[in-house]
Amino acid sequence: MGSPETPTPTPTPSADWHPRTTMVRGGLARSENMETAEALYLSSGFVYPDADAARRAFDGTDTRFVYSRFRNPTNSVFEERLAQLEGAAVCRATTSGMAAMTAALVCRVGVGDRVVASRSLFVSCHWVLTELLPRFGVTVELVPGTDLDAWRAALSRPATCVFLESPSNPGLEIIDIPAVSALAHAAGAVVIVDNAFATPVLQQPLRLGADVVIHSATKYIDGQGRCLGGAILTNDAAYDEEYLLPYLRNTGPCLSPFNAWVMAKGLETLDLRVRAHGESALALARALEGRTGVRSIRYPGLESHPQHALAMTQMNGGGGAMLALEVEGGQEGAFRFLDALRLIDISNNLGDAKSLACHPATTTHQRLSDEECAIQGIQPGLVRVSVGLEDTRDLIADVEQALAAV
Ligand SMILES: *Cc1c(COP(=O)(O)O)cnc(C)c1O
Repeated sequence: MGSPETPTPTPTPSADWHPRTTMVRGGLARSENMETAEALYLSSGFVYPDADAARRAFDGTDTRFVYSRFRNPTNSVFEERLAQLEGAAVCRATTSGMAAMTAALVCRVGVGDRVVASRSLFVSCHWVLTELLPRFGVTVELVPGTDLDAWRAALSRPATCVFLESPSNPGLEIIDIPAVSALAHAAGAVVIVDNAFATPVLQQPLRLGADVVIHSATKYIDGQGRCLGGAILTNDAAYDEEYLLPYLRNTGPCLSPFNAWVMAKGLETLDLRVRAHGESALALARALEGRTGVRSIRYPGLESHPQHALAMTQMNGGGGAMLALEVEGGQEGAFRFLDALRLIDISNNLGDAKSLACHPATTTHQRLSDEECAIQGIQPGLVRVSVGLEDTRDLIADVEQALAAV
């Protein structure tokens, strides 16, 4: 990795690395101090040796750091590492997943443009699509994500962007990314995929035909519930240069360097964690299937999931760590179940080392009408479980004793 006389300030090539190596070493850019870990640059600005160096930095002749709203050395390590994992040329870190989602769409659309999106969505994504974009003269059409005929019909007319979430939150629908991308491209649309649930360990949407990936790094990338963060990744140079980069630089939803440092650290263990989360989630789902008190259990890794086969091919054989559990007794049953949990916490967050459960209909998705909830498969008895990293046996025991209380 170089000697003190020859520091290596630029990222090391990673063409031959397997993902787990990239997670630990991708994007590493040591300073002249040759620190082992990634350095934390808590600096808003940067200085220049002379006035002409400043001029060259601003006209693009030099690529030095200018201002942390534009670029920051710690953020660059996180961005480069995640870019390598997603197979992206470009990664732009943002202050949250919602900042990433909003920027990815708003930067690209204008009056008269059309967006087609899957219907089963994280509720803030639903708000941006159905409340925010229409204010600026953008038409948005929502389609049932698992229905390719519906996508085909919606994309028989030109569209500017397609947005989808797979697996979806909290319904855990799996959308056929290659098929939807092909239809979208024929309609002239940029395909934006929210990859928060799958992470690059299980799914790399750019390799499946999508053009842009967004992340809530808050979830599995941090993985321990400490910091908010997001990212936008793409191989589409025109999208990045003409739309995304000017939008981000001028509106400023940039990630704090401290949070970028936490996220880069989170990526080091992403593969290990996502696999451990998934093994536990599968064991828990199997333990719950057909049990008294359980009306249904939705988990992409179970054979009973309607898109199980697609999930297995599209998600590298994994099902993720989110379960949708419908308990008997509607909302009352769900509340009794949640209140009886002793280990799993009631929380609307997800992707934490701690297992968390919530009642989407009255919390995360409260804003939706009963009718919209029904369409999205959010039944009154539905409990969303984010399976953490505790011992699987303790999780199964906790859920079993809580079910006994329903
Ligand atoms: C949490 C989440 C978001 C939003 O991310 P924040 O970091 O909370 O802003 C977007 N999409 C999905 C699927 C999520 O789970």
